[in-house]
Amino acid sequence: MSEIYLDNSATTRVFPEAAALMAKIMTEEYGNPSSMHHKGVEAEMRIREARETVAKTLKADPKEILFTSCGTESDNLALIGCARANRRAGNHIITTPVEHPAVLRSMEQLMREGFEVTYLPVDRFGRIDPESLKDAVTDRTILVSIMHVNNEIGAIQPVARAASVVKGIRESILFHTDDVQGYGKVRLYPKKAQVDLLSASGHKIHGPKGIGFLYVAEGVKIEPVLYGGGQQNNRRSGTENVPGIAALALAASILSGHFDEDVKRLYELKKHFIEEVQKIEDIRINGVPLSGLSGNDASEIPSEDTPFDPSDLSRAALLFGAPHIISLSVRDVRAEVLLHALEDKGIYVSSGSACATHKKAFSDTLSSIGLEKPLLDSTIRLSMSVFTTKEEIDTTLEALHTLIPQLRRFRPR
Ligand code: PLP
Repeated sequence: MSEIYLDNSATTRVFPEAAALMAKIMTEEYGNPSSMHHKGVEAEMRIREARETVAKTLKADPKEILFTSCGTESDNLALIGCARANRRAGNHIITTPVEHPAVLRSMEQLMREGFEVTYLPVDRFGRIDPESLKDAVTDRTILVSIMHVNNEIGAIQPVARAASVVKGIRESILFHTDDVQGYGKVRLYPKKAQVDLLSASGHKIHGPKGIGFLYVAEGVKIEPVLYGGGQQNNRRSGTENVPGIAALALAASILSGHFDEDVKRLYELKKHFIEEVQKIEDIRINGVPLSGLSGNDASEIPSEDTPFDPSDLSRAALLFGAPHIISLSVRDVRAEVLLHALEDKGIYVSSGSACATHKKAFSDTLSSIGLEKPLLDSTIRLSMSVFTTKEEIDTTLEALHTLIPQLRRFRPR
């Protein structure tokens, strides 16, 4: 049985080129970048090149890229590091309830340290209203953190507009975005968007696990959360993961080499999937403002007179959210049951968000968008990648068309 992997928001298959580069560095160029001899200099060069490559994808300066061990560490460092470093300026932070636990749990830690946190509400597509920041910002606000792409439903937040509202109130308020799900899929240039800190992760972009980065705009103060040898300008101690850093950069540059074609193709697949899956009764697609979806209430949706053109990426983003994530609520079918029924056919999806699973709590994101209680436990996430094919999507659609009516026969009454 062939495998259809539709859980790319949980993690992705590493590009063979990136895996080969890692193996080469691990077995041949294994020096410690802090060593003063040739092996060290060679490793140091790998980091320098990687930093330049990553910076280029963000139109940033290489000095502004800090390598970390994962997206979680990037979020922790951005939030805890900035809050502590700027404590004298105030103790108020603003975020949203639909952030990843890496942000939400960092906020809880900061609250234990005496910071106050305001959570902005989101609409039923999972998006904040940037204007709501005007009321939320106070004299004590030092930091705002709003994710770019939501990991559970693929909603795209108006990050640039939100940052512009915040900076319009006070330039010195720092703006962080968790771009772990957006980097490589939905364009965001931090300087242009007035974003001071941006988190990303290697394993979501066909790089390895155990590597991430944090963009920190020049001049932004952060306190380290790791103390040790003072690597990376004292901001992140610990011997650098050279193979991971080089592989992350290679994966980022491969993706950016054909960004537009890939994203356009993913939007075509998403559109096709949504149209076809809607033919099943009582299905709801979450985080997609596009009208005409049977399970969705189309009344508040902007009218869309012009035909969809997937090559207009910003319009596609407005209508469809992120190109790669599809969140599906299937009435009267438990997500876990559907997940395993699909698994039996070799199709891998996730229930809610994989990073938050293994614990039985309803998702903050799904509750925040007002999903009815019975649907909270009936929501699966399919997430595509550059490797996903139309045939795989069609096979998955076929499986859903067969399985959902079958599973509904066993619904509890
Ligand atoms: N932020 C978001 C939005 C994510 O989706 C994830 C992982 O799924 C993370 C942060 C954490 O990234 P990592 O797995 O690299 O720690």
